[in-house]
Amino acid sequence: MTTVIDGKQVAASVIEAVKAKSAALEAEAGVRTGLAVVIVGDDPASHAYVGSKSRMAKECGFKSVQHTLPEETTQEELAALVETLNADPSIHGILVQLPLPKHLKSEPIIQSIRPEKDVDGLHVVNAGKLATGDLETGLISCTPAGALILVRTIHGADLSGLNAVVVGRSNLFGKPMGQLLLACNATVTMAHSRTKDLAGICRAADILVAAVGRAEMVKADWVKPGATVIDVGINRVAAPEKGEGKTRLVGDVAYAECASVAGAITPVPGGVGPMTIAMLMANTVIAAHRAAGRPAPK
Ligand code: NDP
Repeated sequence: MTTVIDGKQVAASVIEAVKAKSAALEAEAGVRTGLAVVIVGDDPASHAYVGSKSRMAKECGFKSVQHTLPEETTQEELAALVETLNADPSIHGILVQLPLPKHLKSEPIIQSIRPEKDVDGLHVVNAGKLATGDLETGLISCTPAGALILVRTIHGADLSGLNAVVVGRSNLFGKPMGQLLLACNATVTMAHSRTKDLAGICRAADILVAAVGRAEMVKADWVKPGATVIDVGINRVAAPEKGEGKTRLVGDVAYAECASVAGAITPVPGGVGPMTIAMLMANTVIAAHRAAGRPAPK
């Protein structure tokens, strides 16, 4: 029997814990956790993501602030807003929604966020801490942190003796995911667009993580029987069966065929996706605890 890993359910339990931790921080230290989300331009998908992040922050009892800037915002204006939020003691987490409009450079903006408020975990200080094995004092990128929790629902905290393959090497997901799996003692292979015999490498994986952005690329014969398959991809494809012009979301894994081989698998939607937003809330409450001089909750 294949286990379908229910990301919605796991995310809901993370959110319940965050609510309790933020309520305790407010009751005991008088500190209300604050998250600022910044969005530039009119991209509908980005607005949908930002809307759900702001809503979730409110549901967690946070002070939730959304800054919606027009498409023509300049680099200097955006940098000035980040500086204001950096200096605001009521804001513990700053998230600048990516991608930014083409005329803006995202890297200097991300690196201008104070590392202790970088709840997306993208600042070089936070990426560097993870790369050097410090999982305690930084903030870890939300999607890999969430994906690791899903892996742990199957394998527990110690992945000793297990082969993990991560397909995709982005700074946002692939690299931090590889480092997290390594920190849990898995033997990690990072694969990417230049990898030879990708199918063969994937077939050796006890834990196969796909973060590529190519609809249903991973096929059943890439999956070792009984392996755990974590599908990070979010791809919108045509769904003529739902009517003309309709679309549906699929992952990077051909779900139905791979589910018949895997021991455990995440669906899309309802797998890794809900974990990303839950981990954003978890990072924000950690940042608020540290700002209040209290130990970060586990
Ligand atoms: P990037 O585009 O930054 O990286 C994609 C990676 O896939 C690159 O390392 C690239 O290799 C590799 N790749 C591309 N084509 C192939 C191929 N044919 N074979 C092997 N490797 C290949 O994407 P992200 O990491 O940002 O995102 C990956 C996917 O995850 C996307 O679908 C995205 O939407 C989704 N995502 C989902 C999130 C969630 O909340 N669930 C959050 C973040 C991302 P190379 O480096 O050689 O170019």
